Amino acid sequence: MSELAVQDVTKEFPTRGEPLLVLRGVSLTLKSGENMAIIGPSGSGKSTLLHIIGTLDDPTSGTVTLDGQNPFALAEPELAQFRNQKIGFVFQDHHLLPQCTVLENVLIPTIATGGPSRELSGRAKELIRRVGLDDRSDHRPAELSGGERQRAAIARALILSPALILADEPTGNLDRTTASSIADLLAEIQQEEEVMLIAVTHSAALASTMNKRFVIDDGRLQVDS
Ligand code: ADP
Ligand code: MG
Repeated sequence: MSELAVQDVTKEFPTRGEPLLVLRGVSLTLKSGENMAIIGPSGSGKSTLLHIIGTLDDPTSGTVTLDGQNPFALAEPELAQFRNQKIGFVFQDHHLLPQCTVLENVLIPTIATGGPSRELSGRAKELIRRVGLDDRSDHRPAELSGGERQRAAIARALILSPALILADEPTGNLDRTTASSIADLLAEIQQEEEVMLIAVTHSAALASTMNKRFVIDDGRLQVDS
């Protein structure tokens, strides 16, 4: 059983004048198999919060604990390893490598673990089938539609069986029908894999597929009513 605990996280960015206080004390907990949407207007701090939970940036104060570990106590090589193994990212822009096929892209996170084992290669193929790209496995990103690229990005995020998936506007670049099918896929596969999922979104459709909905308002997380 995995657990994420975010406690009283604040984030300040220095400016030439007063520092910009983006997060003013955010707390949340999540367990294996649970998901949540975080909604909020542009500039409200959604990506900032996701970057901190994803250990890509550190909080000004407060703590993040994932599976009992404080990632910010780790030095860089261990932190990178922690991030690679524990956290899968799905971004608004797919971030697939253009020169690699779908299968190769899905296997990218395995490089840091010593390359794809037979087991991981099998898992990659199974995930590619699960996200509906069976007949696109040898295609490069330029040969895929926007929705197909996000399907590949979802498979890549799951390859190392992370504890947590962080999705930042994963349907933001898609038309409404495609966005809704990607939202459904993300929610289904999250349940099947019993992974934790935090999806940051503008989209009411994506938010409605999540079990819990929160709004970032004035740097704090509120239950969406
Ligand atoms: P959202 O994802 O909700 O649109 P962000 O988390 O990207 O919002 O940004 C929240 C606020 O923090 C914005 O005002 C943005 O300009 C500011 N901000 C984000 N990153 C930085 C940074 N590295 N340095 C200074 N300000 C930043
Ligand atoms: Mg953002």
